[in-house]
Parts: sequence; C-alpha cells; structure tokens
Amino acid sequence: MIVAEKISDVRKNVAEWKKQGLTVGLVPTMGYLHEGHASLVDKAVSECDKVVVSDFVNPTQFGPNEDLAKYPRDFESDCKLLEAHGATLVFHPSVEEMYPENAATFVEILNDMPKKLCGKTRPIHFRGVCTVVSKLFNIVTPDKAFFGMKDAQQLSIIKKMVRDMSYGIEIIGCPIIREDDGLAKSSRNTYLSPEERMAATILSKAVFEGKKMVENGEKNVQTILDAQTKIIESEPLAKIDYVSAVDFSTLEDAAEVKPDTLFAMAVYIGTTRLIDNFLA
Ligand code: AMP
Repeated sequence: MIVAEKISDVRKNVAEWKKQGLTVGLVPTMGYLHEGHASLVDKAVSECDKVVVSDFVNPTQFGPNEDLAKYPRDFESDCKLLEAHGATLVFHPSVEEMYPENAATFVEILNDMPKKLCGKTRPIHFRGVCTVVSKLFNIVTPDKAFFGMKDAQQLSIIKKMVRDMSYGIEIIGCPIIREDDGLAKSSRNTYLSPEERMAATILSKAVFEGKKMVENGEKNVQTILDAQTKIIESEPLAKIDYVSAVDFSTLEDAAEVKPDTLFAMAVYIGTTRLIDNFLA
C-alpha cells in the first residue's frame, strides 16, 4: 500500500492509474479506523480498480469547543487495517498540506440542510465537511466515493453538493456497521467509560424499536419519535440532543412515514455525543 502525505504524490499515482484506464474509488475518513470504515473500503475495493483512503482529522469541521485536540489517532494501526482490506493508497496529509496559510475559500450549502439535525449544535460542521470533501474530490478525482449511512446527514449533504457543483462522481451510501450489542461503531466510542459504554446501547435500542414500528405499518412519525424518546429517557446517563424524522434527500421535517424518511438522533452519554439513525 502506498502512503502519501503530499497532494502531488496522490495526483501522480492517480494520473498513472487513469492512463492505464483504471477506475478510482475514494473513502474519506478521519482515521482511528474500525470495521465501519473497513466496510466502506471493502465496498470500494469490490467496485473500483484502485482505492484511495484519506486519513485526516479535518480541523475545519470541529467547533471551538469540540473534541479536535483529543480526537483519537493511531495511523500505524490504520495502515494495518487498510492494507488487510486491500486499499491501494492512504492519503495522510498534514493540516498545512490541506490548508495552505491564509486559506479563505470554503464550500458551503446555503439552504437549511446544514442547519438541521446535527447542524443545530454544530453550526460550522457541514461547511468544514463540504470543504474538505470537495478538496479530496479535486485531489483524487475519483469515479466513486463511499460514505457511511452512520453519518446520514453528511451523506445527504454530500449528495446535494455533488449535484449542485456538477462533480462527475458517483456517491455510494453504505450501511451502518454495529457492535454485537447494537451500538453503531464509532471512533468516539473510545471516549466512553465502561458504565457509559453499557448505557450507549440505548441509542440502538431506540433505533430498532422505531424500525420495528415502521415495519409493523406505523405511519405517524410523531408516534415513533415519542416511543424512541421514551426509551432514551429511561437511561439515566443519556441526554437527548435531538430525536427527529426528516426526508433523507431534502432534510425537511417529515410528518408521515414515507420510503425515504430518515429517523435520526443525537444523544449525549455523559459528555460524549453519539449519533444513530435508520431509514424507513
Ligand atoms: P469518520 O472517520 O468518522 O469521519 O468516518 C468516515 C466514514 O466512515 C464516513 O463516511 C462514516 O459515515 C463512515 N462510518 C463511520 N462509522 C461507521 C459505521 N459504524 N458503519 C458504517 N460506516 C461508518
């Protein structure tokens, strides 16, 4: 596996592959990789000749009081996982490489999509995400890019950005990978104490209950949200940020369950903010 720290090195490799007529997949990550990330790499490997994985904790998507400094990092272990899953190249740039001094250009969606759900408590988050993903698209010029449904709002926003900005890149959404007890895998799960780790299963319990209600034919969104809220409130260590239902492609509030209704939640377990969701 090629390890590239410089944009120019990525470009050189990609140019060589394209000359050979090979297709390129991109999996953007912030590192500290787990089986959720690995599932994206597997999918990319199955659909593309060459797979680039970016491993970069992007400072512009963290708010001033968020966990940028303490975000977990282990590049050596990331490389082992990526190599085992058949990635071709890992792009591991420095902050200076990605953001030249005095960089002042951002990519931002100016409708309400970045203000919904996680955007309420993370107002600059999706501007940072769109900016870094846009830069990665320009650097890697992939045919396909792979994103997890774990971050459903991010996926919806990236799809919108790709449509609006005419990126000729196919965006592939991949299912949420979970621990055996249901907790969605996340690099942030490492923040949880053993007691909090047990409490954190309350998110997936609420997700599974909501899913069951939809499968049983419940059409009233509020009935489902009320049931999910009640489950989460039964856990003393949990504090709800939001439990909401929106249309997956527009992120507009949903009143009635439709095929693309996204039931999403963010819940604090202690000081750790976790997200989970399901699509009706
Ligand atoms: P992150 O490193 O957290 O920025 O995530 C990088 C990519 O991996 C994003 O597209 C996430 O949605 C995806 N991802 C993270 N956790 C999971 C998971 N448990 N299952 C599937 N995809 C995931």
